[in-house]
Amino acid sequence: MNDIEPICDILERITTLYRNEVRLVGVEHGLHPVHLEVIYYLSRCNKYSDTPAAVTEFLGITKGTTSQSISLLEAKGYLTKEKDPVDRRVSHLVLTPHGEAIAKKAIPPVSFKQGLEKLGGGNAQLKTQLETLLRDIQRSTQSASFGLCKTCKFHTPMSDAHFYCALTKETLMKDFGTLICREHSEA
Ligand code: SF4
Repeated sequence: MNDIEPICDILERITTLYRNEVRLVGVEHGLHPVHLEVIYYLSRCNKYSDTPAAVTEFLGITKGTTSQSISLLEAKGYLTKEKDPVDRRVSHLVLTPHGEAIAKKAIPPVSFKQGLEKLGGGNAQLKTQLETLLRDIQRSTQSASFGLCKTCKFHTPMSDAHFYCALTKETLMKDFGTLICREHSEA
């Protein structure tokens, strides 16, 4: 056995337990894991990334599954669809307070939050190594990065409160930099 296999075994167990924990929260609310993944993504993405097409790409699911999930979540009051003020063909998916609440409850699962908090100072090193692994896998699978805005090559700090996006040519609030973006490009 080489030294990669034990790490793969650990990652497999962690991802399986993660999915199981999320599934259990979903059962309480009559939702499938994919519904919670849509909700969680919408709670973390920015305004350029909250469309059905971005959900489909982020989760790697079919357009049909995305469409059915959005219809169910809309019917249950977890999200609403809002037309883009400039391009009326585009719909933005906006979580309701009900949707925001379940996003916070379900993902990440409580057991994972507690485990990561116990790591304390070890989190920074773990984050760096996992990020490196993630970027490498994304490059080799030619997947979009969906990274945090503040790590994007177009992110240009302007002041303590604002930054400039050199791609969309918009000035944005600093907090926007902590969200996931479909247009993210590695710095
Ligand atoms: S700076 Fe990059 S990640 Fe941030 S909004 Fe612009 S394109 Fe998206």
